[in-house]
Amino acid sequence: MTTIQPIGAHVSSSGGIWTAVERGAALEAEAIQIFGSAPQTWRKTNHTPAAFERFRLARAESSLRAVWLHCPYLPNLAHEDDEMWEKSIDCVVNALTVADGAGADGVVLHTGSHRGKGIDAVLPRVAAAIERIMEAAPGNALLALENAAGQGGTIGKSFEELGAIFRAVATPRLAVCLDTCHAYAGGYDIAHPEGMQAMLEEADREVGLDRLAVIHANDSKMEFGSTRDRHENIGDGHIGSEGFRNILATPELQRLPMLLEVPGLDGKGPDFENVRRLKQLRDEVRTT
Ligand SMILES: [Zn+2]
Ligand SMILES: [Zn+2]
Repeated sequence: MTTIQPIGAHVSSSGGIWTAVERGAALEAEAIQIFGSAPQTWRKTNHTPAAFERFRLARAESSLRAVWLHCPYLPNLAHEDDEMWEKSIDCVVNALTVADGAGADGVVLHTGSHRGKGIDAVLPRVAAAIERIMEAAPGNALLALENAAGQGGTIGKSFEELGAIFRAVATPRLAVCLDTCHAYAGGYDIAHPEGMQAMLEEADREVGLDRLAVIHANDSKMEFGSTRDRHENIGDGHIGSEGFRNILATPELQRLPMLLEVPGLDGKGPDFENVRRLKQLRDEVRTT
């Protein structure tokens, strides 16, 4: 028996973490991603035990099959400055703590930037940060490092880079978030079967396919290999509908929830139309 790949979206949780569940339901999302605190600040949101309880109850009554948190964008686990490095660690620990409170599957993290020095130069720093995070974070929510488009020395442009991190830290809680836009802009032609297979072979060799935990489903405004991270609505970018059919038809990925982080038709973020488009492509793939 095969289960249908969950399709959902990043939704707002403003007004209380539990409000995200109804926003997901309004999109007919089968999975959601939320911020556990404001993405552009270090400030922590104080989620009360009652707020977590409300979230858990709402989720239990919903048809959501996966819940992910996205860590704020500020942490850089490779930061040279000790104070900023400590702040980065603390921020990720907080996100994992919120994930644990909400009963979420895990936290997606942009690992940071090596600022052009290459992964080897920053690997000890990144590994030490992850070890500290794992010691301090309660529960067993996963920490999924997101692949990057590669501009500005962002860590995780290749699975080879992610593999170096995985080999440096031994923890079963480390996972990978595959962002389709970042992969495509980063030089993996996942819009076509050969490019997808090449990426999966590298992913399997470097981190193991079982470590793939979640997909960010975004089309790409920028061309293949541009290394530029600009999300586009499903079917309107360079990956295109045919590219997403190929992604959805890839057996190795079909257990992973797909979360939209697209601009939306009205520019206000993931919307019903993008969820509908992705579900329609999924149905087309399943019936052929
Ligand atoms: Zn993403
Ligand atoms: Zn992105």
